Amino acid sequence: MLHAIADGVERRSEELALVETMDNGALLRSHRRGVMPRVAHNFRFFADRLLHLEHEEFLTRGHTNHVTWDPAGPCVLITPWNAPLMLATWKVAPALAAGNTVVLKPAEWSPLTASLLADIAAEAGLPPGVLNVVQGYGSEIGGTLTGHPDVRRVSFTGSVPTARRIAASAAANLTPLSLELGGKSPLLVFADADPDLAVDLAVEQYDNAGQVCLAATRILVERSAAPEFTRRLAGRIARLRQGDPREDATDIGPTIHPRQLERVDGFVRRALASGARAVAGGHRVGERYYAPTLLTGVEQDSEIVQEEVFGPVLTLQSFDSEDEAVRLANDTRFGLAATVATGDRARAARVTERLVAGTVWVNCFFVRDLRAPFGGSRHSGVGREGGTWSFDFYCDLKNTVTAP
Ligand code: NAD
Repeated sequence: MLHAIADGVERRSEELALVETMDNGALLRSHRRGVMPRVAHNFRFFADRLLHLEHEEFLTRGHTNHVTWDPAGPCVLITPWNAPLMLATWKVAPALAAGNTVVLKPAEWSPLTASLLADIAAEAGLPPGVLNVVQGYGSEIGGTLTGHPDVRRVSFTGSVPTARRIAASAAANLTPLSLELGGKSPLLVFADADPDLAVDLAVEQYDNAGQVCLAATRILVERSAAPEFTRRLAGRIARLRQGDPREDATDIGPTIHPRQLERVDGFVRRALASGARAVAGGHRVGERYYAPTLLTGVEQDSEIVQEEVFGPVLTLQSFDSEDEAVRLANDTRFGLAATVATGDRARAARVTERLVAGTVWVNCFFVRDLRAPFGGSRHSGVGREGGTWSFDFYCDLKNTVTAP
């Protein structure tokens, strides 16, 4: 059934890509080439992974302990607007594979592809009531879903304030939670890094107009390399093409909503007022766009360094030693991801060991294998998704002990 849903996603991928772009403003070419194939893969991966779950057996004085993965029961899945179908299917696929029923509530700003997914599942023959999509404002219907006594799992991707409300609501029934939350990830650039790669990694952070939880929005550069790195990065930013996300030539689309644009602009205006300097951008472009922005002269304890902006805004700070780089990198309440650019493998090993993050990339970014765990430390989340970790969450493990 999951493979049949994947077939349906592939058959309708052009429509899904276009609808997703109309809904959230992310680039059509990314939806076509990257996102929709991965959405289909999410279903195929968890369908196949299920077959490889270990049903362990242990012998105790002739008694057999047989461990099985039972479905947990009805699962409520709540998702954000920045990568709607991608993030929804990371949850829907393992929850269904584990044998559960699902109520999916997509974000109110990007509701459409979740409803198309329900159509595709119905066309694939999934029985009515197994995958349910409920549309609505989280503040109005969220509590009804997350506080319902029949619900056995709540999986949420979104912001920290909403996570707190959901945790409080789920506490009434002790419903187990998986939380994938925000980030303020660092990109550490050491002087021994390949300079072209380091700039490429920085520019990638403007993808989806910076509306990416994993985005490494705090660039930390070794002081000796900072002037040249900054000059080259500013040059690359100046060449980014902002415009219609349906055009192939566009690098940066709009922010999702005028309210999000207002929020991003507020962060930048307050940073500039407290002494930051915009090496690039620092302003709106028309009604829906924000110029790709690079801020220097920012303090470690300032709002712009500590809080998630969720827009095309990067800060740049310098460090003098590995110790200082690690200290700055770890000095926020988040711990979602980190990226390290260095030409020295021994340094990479030393630094990555000390970073607090659910995912660390060395000389790369956004490489994701569904077999690996994904999630955040500290305020970036609770639990891990991916591979067996998803089944850990969506199943109740049962040990049956049988006498000889
Ligand atoms: P949000 O928290 O405002 O909303 C997320 C979802 O929660 C929406 O569907 C919303 O309707 C719902 N919701 C709101 N109030 C609710 C309530 N009281 N009860 C139940 N549901 C409720 O987040 P957003 O603005 O849509 O998304 C941006 C945030 O998501 C950022 O912080 C970003 O970092 C985070 N995010 C995290 C990951 C990750 O994997 N860690 C991935 C993408 C986005």
